[in-house]
Amino acid sequence: MDRYDLIVIGSGPGGYRAAVLGALRGLKVAIIERRDWGGCCLNRGCVPKKAWHHSAKWIAQSRALASRGLRAKVTADLGVAWEHQREVVATVRDSYESYMKRLGITALRGHGRLLDAQRVELSAGDTVQTIEGAHIILATGSSPRLPSWSGEVPGRVLTTDTLFDEPPPAGKRVALIGSGVIGTEFAFILTLLGKEVVWICGGEPLARSLFSNQARRTLREAMANYDIAPRTGARVQSARVGDDGVALTLEDGGEETVDWVCLGTGRVPHTEGLGLEAAGIETDAAGFVVRNAHLQTAAANVYAIGDCTSPAMTANQALADATLAIDNILGDTPRAQDPLWVPEAIYSAVEMARIGMDEDTAEDEDLEPAVGFAAFETSPRALGQGDTAGFVRLLGDMDSGALLGGEIVGSEAAELIHLLALAPDRDTALRWLARGAYNHPTRAEELLNAAETMASKWGLRDHIFG
Ligand code: FAD
Repeated sequence: MDRYDLIVIGSGPGGYRAAVLGALRGLKVAIIERRDWGGCCLNRGCVPKKAWHHSAKWIAQSRALASRGLRAKVTADLGVAWEHQREVVATVRDSYESYMKRLGITALRGHGRLLDAQRVELSAGDTVQTIEGAHIILATGSSPRLPSWSGEVPGRVLTTDTLFDEPPPAGKRVALIGSGVIGTEFAFILTLLGKEVVWICGGEPLARSLFSNQARRTLREAMANYDIAPRTGARVQSARVGDDGVALTLEDGGEETVDWVCLGTGRVPHTEGLGLEAAGIETDAAGFVVRNAHLQTAAANVYAIGDCTSPAMTANQALADATLAIDNILGDTPRAQDPLWVPEAIYSAVEMARIGMDEDTAEDEDLEPAVGFAAFETSPRALGQGDTAGFVRLLGDMDSGALLGGEIVGSEAAELIHLLALAPDRDTALRWLARGAYNHPTRAEELLNAAETMASKWGLRDHIFG
């Protein structure tokens, strides 16, 4: 039986990162994948979606060309966009596979199942083998949740998995179901890529996120510029799929006839056939693998990371989990997970990113949050780009001047949030921002401006500039 220091099951961002970090830090690593290297994020999630978002943004920006004296007619073709994302994904997947090879990681194809807390059975077709690991990381991810009315998801009712796996069906009119991140992103992407989107939302878009009311208002306004409006309070009761379209009946008695449907109705963790019980590992009522703050399951040498462990379900969280799991496997003093300080981002009609506490969370912890605000509408860089929607909003502690959290709405928000995520220490992060050297004119300078408004408005000059 082959023996490893670390066996990773699942090669999404969590599993891939854990395998790479483990190998870089001297462990003998095997990684098991039953489908495509790179998991959901690379093959049918973040990576192809961002390629489409970039195209959607180009089309959005092309509307302002004439006011700058530029002339071009930009039109969209979702079929070609589909081919393009496949090329992007294939290139990244090849680079992942060759990097794993270079690091000496044993990449095994097949389904992994725990036989106990040290042994994993790998089945690939008729071949079955058992390998042994001193440590095991479960990184098995999640799949789309199918609402009861969707049946077997035939060719005209798509999940985001099928949307990226198969060329999109013909037809212009698309029903998009869901008010979460996927609904919010694809409402913009599919509209700008030429579809007439009927966006059916049980609740307000992103209502269950930590984004502020101001952020969600800015998003609504940006969506309205492209005539995108959610039909909130609408729920699908049943669907009739025919040869040339789908007829949806809504709970309020309304009907919608569309060419195809895209589901953004949540995701469920993958734990089926994983042999958790054989290793004494439990799942919670929602099916997530139970683990402690150090990411250990009930079997102390088996760690669990990413989508299979919590409804947070972002690649960012899976990557942060991977780093922590490897630190804890190798370190003497285990560190606890700090999920609030992993950035999150939304790519829609405006880009949105946040990290840390919001005001309610801060007040629940008996802190007094002070707000520092700077809008992009007066940023020289944003004005020159003709792209002034959004703002930077920092939260600081009134007593100590420590950074409590931050939110950035507007172009490049997901890049800019790294200035907060990577600050060396939260107690001095605002001072660090205030003393930093910046390119001018840039969007990043608005973080400095927001820190300045906080200093002057809330009497934090000494903390921030002292
Ligand atoms: P996954 O990426 O789900 O990978 C798990 C892997 O494990 C899979 O490849 C699966 O085949 C394999 N596996 C499962 N069970 C077994 C087994 N028993 N044996 C062998 N292999 C197994 N997140 C972001 O942060 N930013 C984004 O922009 C973003 N965009 C998204 C867009 C879409 C359309 C979707 C659907 C998701 C998006 N996400 C985004 C979420 C992100 O893709 C997931 O949070 C992330 O992929 C989770 O990583 P993971 O490593 O936990 O699992």
